[in-house]
Amino acid sequence: MAYDSTNIFARILRGEIPCKKAFEDDHVLAFHDIHPQAPTHILVIPKGAYVSAADFGATASDAEIAAFTRAVARIAAEAGVEGSGYRLISNHGPDSHQEVPHYHVHILGGRPLGRLVT
Ligand code: C5P
Repeated sequence: MAYDSTNIFARILRGEIPCKKAFEDDHVLAFHDIHPQAPTHILVIPKGAYVSAADFGATASDAEIAAFTRAVARIAAEAGVEGSGYRLISNHGPDSHQEVPHYHVHILGGRPLGRLVT
């Protein structure tokens, strides 16, 4: 699947649409989900143009992958859910109901999340 630069996260990265920023560095932007599913619900996105986890893993540089991985853990810690725990979710493709075709990881926490079923 080719990257569509009109997707909403690409527009957030270009500053065309506002977001409630949680973290930013050279490689990563994180912001609070507009429809939170838990007290902490943060989306972490790479600044590069990647459709999904598969695209990111296959084509991002080692520096981007390292920065992203470290940022996810740091953002969770700064959000205060390191001790109580959190869940990372990344949807890929239609069966997962991925809505936005720019790779992102959801950080969910702040309440017991139950068992992961579907
Ligand atoms: O993984 P998926 O693509 O389904 O998730 C997209 C997420 O982006 C949704 O949780 C939605 O609430 C969020 N979103 C957002 N800000 C927007 C558009 C979507 O936080 N402007």
